[in-house]
Amino acid sequence: MEVNARRLVGRSAVVTGGASGIGLAAARRLAAEGAHVVVADLNAAAGEAAAAEVGGLFVRTDVTQEDDVVALYAATHEAYGSVDIAFNNAGINPTDDGSVLDTGLDAWRRVQEVNLTSVFHCCKHALPYMREQGRGSIVNTASFVAVMGAATSQISYSASKGGVLSMSRELGVQFAREGIRVNALCPGPVNTPLLQELFAADPEQAQRRLVHVPAGRFAEPEEIAAAVAFLASDDASFVNATTFLVDGGIAGAYVTPV
Ligand code: NAD
Repeated sequence: MEVNARRLVGRSAVVTGGASGIGLAAARRLAAEGAHVVVADLNAAAGEAAAAEVGGLFVRTDVTQEDDVVALYAATHEAYGSVDIAFNNAGINPTDDGSVLDTGLDAWRRVQEVNLTSVFHCCKHALPYMREQGRGSIVNTASFVAVMGAATSQISYSASKGGVLSMSRELGVQFAREGIRVNALCPGPVNTPLLQELFAADPEQAQRRLVHVPAGRFAEPEEIAAAVAFLASDDASFVNATTFLVDGGIAGAYVTPV
């Protein structure tokens, strides 16, 4: 995808889960638009490589650990003098999270910690910098499953993303008059290594899902990253507290084309 826009020159952008998939594509896109990117991830090798590629900073972070998150924004502020953009994107989708009938409490809690409590930590500790600056854009990664039910249930994942969606809306409303916007990004299924592996092993599972996508294909990570860059930028200056679906039309569909 060719990037001509330079909407983020001089801004600092923290990307959690920036070592892989959507986060990596967003780190590249935000940097291409001029931002100073801070990659935050558990995976040090891939995170260092991503940060080096985009000319940014890597901060090893476990987003479930509040102290790590505090240190992440402090390091960002120290390096670049501001915390302008927080893309709170790290998340997991483990196979032991399934039907409510089979999912154990351990799996439930792990997914809530990584997908939802982490976003609480990240918002809580990015916001003071943004309030001080009188400016900021927070983009929290939810999912289309925050607004639609799936019979192929991953119960804790869906509940965590519903939580991200309502938390984002509430924060967007609370801080709107301080120059801060908070939006929930809701991607449809994205062509990441995780999804490729899953569906290569079981093509029927891929087909079961593809039939519901009007676009007839899954998203590429760069298509989600383009939405992140828009929400992060002043082009989205009146876009706040939204459920920002980037799903190829899934949530709007009843019958899809054959
Ligand atoms: P991915 O597995 O490719 O990347 C996730 C990154 O998060 C990895 O680099 C991983 O190391 C990191 N991470 C995991 N736990 C962490 C922790 N505790 N602290 C710090 N980093 C941690 O995943 P992806 O497909 O790019 O997904 C990114 C986000 O998008 C997730 O929140 C996911 O739920 C959401 N999402 C994905 C899809 C999809 O189809 N891929 C669809 C909708 C929403």
